[in-house]
Amino acid sequence: MAETKQGPFDVVVIGSGPGGYVAAIRAGQLGLRAAIVEKDDKLGGTCLWRGCIPTKVLLHNAYLYEQILDSKKLGIEVEGVKLNFPQLMKSKDDILRRQGNGVAYLMKKNKVQVFTGYGKIRKPGLVEVAGADKAVTLLETRAVIIATGSEAKAFPGMEPDGKGIITNIEALTLDAVPKSMVIIGGGAVGIEFASIYRSFGSEVAVVEMLPQILPLEDEEVSKELEKILKKRGIKIHTGSKTEAIKAAKGGYEVKLGGASSETLTAEKVLVAVGRKPNVENLGLENTKVKVEKGFIQVGVDMQTAEPGIFAIGDVVPTPLLAHVASAEGILAADRIKGLETHPINYNRIPNVTYCDPQVASVGLTEKKAREKGHDLKIGKFPFAPVGKARIEHEEDGFVKIIADSKYGEILGVHILHAKAGEMIPEAVAILNGEMTAEALSHTIHPHPTLSEAIMEAAHAIYGQPIHM
Ligand SMILES: Cc1cc2nc3c(=O)[nH]c(=O)nc-3n(C[C@H](O)[C@H](O)[C@H](O)COP(=O)(O)OP(=O)(O)OC[C@H]3O[C@@H](n4cnc5c(N)ncnc54)[C@H](O)[C@@H]3O)c2cc1C
Repeated sequence: MAETKQGPFDVVVIGSGPGGYVAAIRAGQLGLRAAIVEKDDKLGGTCLWRGCIPTKVLLHNAYLYEQILDSKKLGIEVEGVKLNFPQLMKSKDDILRRQGNGVAYLMKKNKVQVFTGYGKIRKPGLVEVAGADKAVTLLETRAVIIATGSEAKAFPGMEPDGKGIITNIEALTLDAVPKSMVIIGGGAVGIEFASIYRSFGSEVAVVEMLPQILPLEDEEVSKELEKILKKRGIKIHTGSKTEAIKAAKGGYEVKLGGASSETLTAEKVLVAVGRKPNVENLGLENTKVKVEKGFIQVGVDMQTAEPGIFAIGDVVPTPLLAHVASAEGILAADRIKGLETHPINYNRIPNVTYCDPQVASVGLTEKKAREKGHDLKIGKFPFAPVGKARIEHEEDGFVKIIADSKYGEILGVHILHAKAGEMIPEAVAILNGEMTAEALSHTIHPHPTLSEAIMEAAHAIYGQPIHM
């Protein structure tokens, strides 16, 4: 097969998720000759097509559906409320298509050349792209950014079959609401799907090996979320291992071990046990790039052990989040341009799980702060007395602020509330500005807003919350 050459480029990005496409845009903005290689027929990656965006569309629609079902108490009576699941999925697809078109437009706007095909490093400075027709295009380049992302992990005995044992991909494209679903994995992905399908009427059970769901979140927040999800009718088995999955009449049997020895039955089994970075078949053996425990190793400037080859996003051992991938993409492009860059502070990355209610956090959990030897002052304030929470009938949850007792420096902020995700950026700014709890307590928050609970939690650190 004939090979054609293109370039030279300043940078070739492999993978067009929120890491890759953002890196390409920044490279274009900086005047670098940039190309992006994507094996799928559309740009946007896991986040746009199989992750962040589609799950949030379903979560939003699930939230609205529940609000409408519950609206009678507000004096709004809606008759004949009905879930049209195919139409709901179609509305999701429309949003994805428009987002995808947006990414394609941004490539054009920033003069980034798009190559559709499988990208592989033939040697440093040379990327080969194999198209669907097997034609190979060679891209000569000064730098490469690997942004190939990740895919769902599978354990032996629970390999997805795409029909009954599924991953996020199939869970986002079902043609009907399953009667029942067992979700293996109580991390952010598992809990978001539990929330979605419970709202749509499925019987849902979550199995988590560790003692708490959302294992990375503050223990108190996870425990309270667990209580609320149980009230919503979701069964939760923490400290429980999935021993075996076998086909049964109408679905599957899932045998548990550990804290629970139940055998669960369900029409669908969703496996959400983590992600596996896409580092295979990228030609890394032709470079000095190092892979450890499945992740590409990089320095603070996102450069690998091979000068000129960078890696960002889910393929590197930093939090597997879209906004982290994007920040790393900007950093790598700036570095390739030769700009002065600042390392990312991974202790100040916001985390949001968009279940109902949402969990959002930044900084240290109480347990982590104590392990680090901090003497703590903790302020907590519930949403129930907050006027805006009452107005919106969203009274579940609380804000928890963790501060060092010496100067009151805020080390972590944890929020459980239906709209927690919209409140956490304030906390990121608080941590970035190394603000004290006292300064926060004197920061005037508008009334009535949900954010008043953040100010109240700061007052609570000094034992003086106003509305409690
Ligand atoms: C269900 C789910 C929900 C999520 N929700 C959120 C959320 O709400 N917020 C959040 O921050 N994060 C969320 N995430 C995580 C987020 O999706 C990832 O962290 C993010 O997509 C990583 O971006 P990336 O650019 O590294 O890789 P990806 O988005 O995975 O993109 C990688 C791209 O590279 C392409 N590719 C791979 N190999 C090659 C190759 N050899 N040649 C050419 N192209 C290649 C792939 O086709 C893909 O398009 C979610 C994940 C899942 C699964």
